[in-house]
Amino acid sequence: MEEHIALLNGKLITPFREIDKGFVLIKDDLIEKIGPMKETVIPEGTQTIDVKGRYIAPGFIDSHLHGAFGGSVMAATENDLKLMAQGLVRCGTTSFLPTTLSAPWDDIIKTVDCISQAMKKDLQGARILGVHIEGPYLNLEQKGAQNPEYIYPPDPDQYLPLLDKYPSIIRVTAAPEVPGCLKLGRQLRKRNIIAAIGHSNATYQQVLEAVENGYSHVTHMFSGMSGVKRIKGYRISGVIESTLLLDELTTELIADGHHLPPSLMKLVLHSKGRDKVCLVTDSMSAAGMGPGRYDLGGLGVIVEADVPEEFEIPTQKDNYVAKLSDRSVFASSVSTMDKLIRNMVNYCDLNIRQAVQLVTYNAAKIQHLEDEIGILAEHKKADLTVFDSDINIKMTIVNGRILYKSL
Ligand SMILES: [Zn+2]
Repeated sequence: MEEHIALLNGKLITPFREIDKGFVLIKDDLIEKIGPMKETVIPEGTQTIDVKGRYIAPGFIDSHLHGAFGGSVMAATENDLKLMAQGLVRCGTTSFLPTTLSAPWDDIIKTVDCISQAMKKDLQGARILGVHIEGPYLNLEQKGAQNPEYIYPPDPDQYLPLLDKYPSIIRVTAAPEVPGCLKLGRQLRKRNIIAAIGHSNATYQQVLEAVENGYSHVTHMFSGMSGVKRIKGYRISGVIESTLLLDELTTELIADGHHLPPSLMKLVLHSKGRDKVCLVTDSMSAAGMGPGRYDLGGLGVIVEADVPEEFEIPTQKDNYVAKLSDRSVFASSVSTMDKLIRNMVNYCDLNIRQAVQLVTYNAAKIQHLEDEIGILAEHKKADLTVFDSDINIKMTIVNGRILYKSL
């Protein structure tokens, strides 16, 4: 049966332009038409919703998260993924890449298998786009909050069977300077999997080699990566400088208001241009839950809002971050997409349209999915979200179905 939904009187963000007083007509799981209200054509039997001047944007895409709303990716249960999917729609996220952590290989297989099975089911929430594998092929010296016990160089006998069995794997983060990771990059590109540089100590020369061998993206800019170092007095560029410089590389910001000060986020947008950067939450199970003690890949984590005086953004109530128990490093975030957009608008001089582009079109393009999602246009997936000027999410539609509504 054909089913139409019409959203009326919205401020549309496509995200390339804004259409004031616009409408979106949805048929089944696709967008059938968008435009100004005066061009509205509403078929008989359409469910009409007046959004009263609020924004209508493509649904947000999160390509890097380990958990949220009490659900943890590595727990490898359908229920954990369901908790995430159903929580995320409350924050405007319509699709996401559950991301693994360094762990015993069997646990990684189990997790990938669980995600692949869940992708065939209706979780009544945000849609799983595929799996993002982060670890074990990282550099121990840039481990961050990844469990060092399970970080080691890649072996094709280990990863090729996994890649062959699970086409659901669409992104892998690895450290290209680790022996075997260039070959891994070539194997990933052969399968159209995005190869991302992350938790890496690479030099500029090694980043160039990575680009030559299929790496196109850089995981969580400034976190777990090398910067300028000196060898015998000579300055050697690291992953940070290489990413800022090379047009061949896209990157992502954990814009939770803790991982990066506004000055660094602005530096990245300024150097890369606003079309090569997306935002990710990199969140863990405590996202959307509140302060306390949690677990991340077997490591103890404390969630609190304790910002040093020197940081550019002062401590704010309800703006928490996750740290390893000894408070030495951040352990993922507890942020959500709506907050990331708000941070870009409040601290990085972007308007709402520009900030929305980072989590919609840009995120889709980096993952080569822009033909399907990330744009409010005819024949794209009907993944949409409606919010007010403070980015309070009012409604979220996934695959043409209203899964969250507080209008
Ligand atoms: Zn990471």
